[in-house]
Amino acid sequence: MKPLLINGAWQTTSQAIDNINPSDTSDVIDAYARAGETEAKSAIAAAREAAPKWGRSTPQQRHDLLARIGQEILSRKDEIGTLLSREEGKPLAEGVGETIRAAHIFNFFAGEALRQAGEKLASVRPGVDIDITREPVGVVGIIAPWNFPIAIPAWKIAPALCFGNSVVMKPAELVPGCSWVLADIIHRAGAPAGVFNYVYGPGSQVGQAMLDCPDIDAITFTGSQDTGQIVAAACAKHMRKMQLEMGGKNPLVVLDDADLETAVECAINGAFYSTGQRCTASSRLIVTEGVHNRFVEACVERLRGLTVDNALKDGTDIGPVVDQSQLDQDIRYLDIARNEGGNIRYGGEVVERATKGFYLTPALITDTNAAMTINREEVFGPVASVIRVRDYDEALQVANDTPFGLSAGICTKSLRHASHFKANAKAGMVMVNLPTAGVDYHVPFGGTKGSSYGSREQGRYAVEFFTSVKTAYTAA
Ligand code: ADP
Repeated sequence: MKPLLINGAWQTTSQAIDNINPSDTSDVIDAYARAGETEAKSAIAAAREAAPKWGRSTPQQRHDLLARIGQEILSRKDEIGTLLSREEGKPLAEGVGETIRAAHIFNFFAGEALRQAGEKLASVRPGVDIDITREPVGVVGIIAPWNFPIAIPAWKIAPALCFGNSVVMKPAELVPGCSWVLADIIHRAGAPAGVFNYVYGPGSQVGQAMLDCPDIDAITFTGSQDTGQIVAAACAKHMRKMQLEMGGKNPLVVLDDADLETAVECAINGAFYSTGQRCTASSRLIVTEGVHNRFVEACVERLRGLTVDNALKDGTDIGPVVDQSQLDQDIRYLDIARNEGGNIRYGGEVVERATKGFYLTPALITDTNAAMTINREEVFGPVASVIRVRDYDEALQVANDTPFGLSAGICTKSLRHASHFKANAKAGMVMVNLPTAGVDYHVPFGGTKGSSYGSREQGRYAVEFFTSVKTAYTAA
């Protein structure tokens, strides 16, 4: 059984949860100790105790810790990437790529630890100086989703530690493995007892205990909108800082003048890679009528060539859906789309492979419109719909017609339309001739409307959430 990490000590519990490979349900990766409310509370108490000292640690200490973590992740990228693909189901190349990204994130924040600066201003009053500095928030609670088992924990843990906070981290039920490896690395890299705590267990118990405990100063959460609302209500009750990332219904606009090959690549990559289980997935393909039919045909041709199979097998393009309930959800949305008049032009079939897993062929739905359920709610699977529009103006209007606003893409050769789209797409991230998914690790990540709440994650903008600002006045 893989234990919890609380106050610098490994701790088992009386119950464990099996970590099952979605590509092969007979493959039990390991059993992971299941925390309950008691363990969550001990972890929070340990983090509270450790916070002041870590908050006073030097930039060099924080740099060295983060750099050691980044280095070890990178040196074990194949092993950790394999575990990632085994527990989450994305193809091995993507699993290794995500692991490398996690290492880069730790390295980035190792550098940021050395670059923490304040401001000094003259007061409007004579003989008074003003210093503006940043302080750690204190104890940060991290609630992570299953779709990026190492990158999302990394982009929350690294800035939290970098800016002098202690951490209580809860991975998603489905993917404890990569987070456990991360906890082990952080522990051995020399994080002082209580500075980093790993508590694995159900959201309704461990997550809820974190939300209910007044000793957590800030919560950073990535997951569904429904849970995001629970997190927001609890944080409001405790007047605590929060950062929420909650998914998207991301448009990829394809105009008549687009390079067709680029547009198809953007659509296939953005909509179906990582089995479409990305909050930045291009789930709505908005296509002007001059290119619509050619675009759909070319997408279907590309989809026919994709291999859906075991994530660890050579040649697999799309792995399984993460579990049975996610597969049921995908199928339910396909049924709804069909019933509302959509045409499943390709895929959407549950298929069997040599190993028993949750395999669904990538689905392309045509003849949809902006009002249909399939274009309003996040599916979180290998499912994309095509919306035919007259021209750019209608494309932009449809692109923005969603409760979400995470990422938005456009494929066009027109500088005028690209510039207009960048300025007018209601999204936190805009892509021109690129897929809506696939972002850099050193720049801000986040959205508008129902996608995000609070300040941005990643890059230098992460400092906003993980610190609090102090303005000090001194009479000379
Ligand atoms: P998904 O559909 O991606 O699993 P969820 O929003 O259900 O998204 O889960 C995201 C994270 O939130 C997971 O770590 C989950 O355990 C956690 N979670 C779920 N319910 C709660 C809750 N009531 N309180 C706190 N965390 C929760």
